[in-house]
Amino acid sequence: METLASGLREALRKLRKAPIVDSKTLNAFIRDVQRTLLRADVSVELVMEISEKIKERVRKAQLPPGFSKKELLYRILYEELVQLLGGENAGKPPMPTKKPYVIMLVGIQGAGKTTSAGKLAYFYKKKGFKPCLVCADNYRPAACIQLSQLASQIGVTCIVPENTESSASMAVQGIKEAHNHCDIVIIDTAGRHKQEEGLIKEMKELYHVIKPDHVILVLDASMGSQAEKHALAFHKAAPLGSIMITKLDGSAKGGGALAAAAKTGARISFVGVGEKIDEIEEFDPKAFVARLLGMGDIKSLIEKFEAFERIERERLKAISAGKLTLYDLREQLQAINRMGPLSRILEMIPGGAKLAGTEEMAKENIKKWLAIMDSMTKEELLKPEIIDKSRIARIARGSGTTPQDVRRLLSSYRKMRKMYKQLLRQQKRLKRGVGFPIG
Ligand code: GDP
Ligand code: MG
Repeated sequence: METLASGLREALRKLRKAPIVDSKTLNAFIRDVQRTLLRADVSVELVMEISEKIKERVRKAQLPPGFSKKELLYRILYEELVQLLGGENAGKPPMPTKKPYVIMLVGIQGAGKTTSAGKLAYFYKKKGFKPCLVCADNYRPAACIQLSQLASQIGVTCIVPENTESSASMAVQGIKEAHNHCDIVIIDTAGRHKQEEGLIKEMKELYHVIKPDHVILVLDASMGSQAEKHALAFHKAAPLGSIMITKLDGSAKGGGALAAAAKTGARISFVGVGEKIDEIEEFDPKAFVARLLGMGDIKSLIEKFEAFERIERERLKAISAGKLTLYDLREQLQAINRMGPLSRILEMIPGGAKLAGTEEMAKENIKKWLAIMDSMTKEELLKPEIIDKSRIARIARGSGTTPQDVRRLLSSYRKMRKMYKQLLRQQKRLKRGVGFPIG
């Protein structure tokens, strides 16, 4: 994954260094991201899709107050990468719903099934379950030895059935034996096929006989975008199963494999990140991308955005219910402060023109009002009716104004709110087609 990580970090580093974010910077940034994704063997189609989406979002996005364009871009890149890797669809690890819960691993030879079977047993043991491993590889006797060694390493039971007629018969016997002393049975199969078609056929046959509760398709990350074919066929055959992508540590194509598998709608539940028994991870696109981008602070940035949006939603709800809060007033005044000239813009807020007085007075008032509102808590801004005498005194102290200033602001606010309500009522009447006298 190093290619992907270092490429994306380099793209972000360049972006951070850019003095301004204009269309040139944006295009260069997107090109860097594209190049990196292509190098990680993400398919051209997906790369075009994600870059179009990023451009589109940047074009449509309104920069929320208090955020920089760069922060907005970080967020968009982060979210689109999370989407690329499956987003909300990403899998939680299968959790036992009955006892014993049978998990069957399939995949071509060398994909990492046996290693992953051991890792899974370790994973579930750590979660407090009692897993058993069953060897159902009737082609390579060494495979059962490999599995037994892994089992003793982590202290779980490994069942090696004697009836080695077929993979299926081994599995069936193994499950029978495991029944009494395990709550999760993990079956390692043979996987003779190099081709996706034969593999899926074999999987279906095994599925029929074994009737597992969950099937995990094991795919080698070095398949890159080739993983799509396998994942798609698998997803059609076993929609409730999941995918484990192995060798993410060693392959430059891991990004491509993850994206390709996610694209098909199949669930990626685990990834293998090394040869050792504990080198298995639940696949969580959000954590994965945050780590990829090397941004310890991406989480707090995303939370900051989300908090802002939550307040926006509340505010819009309040507005549509006919409530103008001090918070809205502050937002509008801040916007006005940024825009100027005042006299024209003040007409934009209901009652603004009447209250502001002359241009000079307006400027002074707005400055003072903003200072006062900056000293209020969010709760006070959203619910001005809770502001009592003692709060007024505190706010005045905090903003370097007098209680009288605060009271004047509150009374202006109440007047505005009243006008605002009238305005809303008129609008509603207009919508209903009742009409009202203009002028
Ligand atoms: P199987 O034929 O599908 O059962 O594959 P094996 O479990 O025998 O694994 C094949 C090779 O891949 C072995 O050398 C493993 O050590 C190696 N391997 C499996 N998973 C990983 C992984 O996540 N990372 C790395 N680096 N190697 C792995
Ligand atoms: Mg094996």
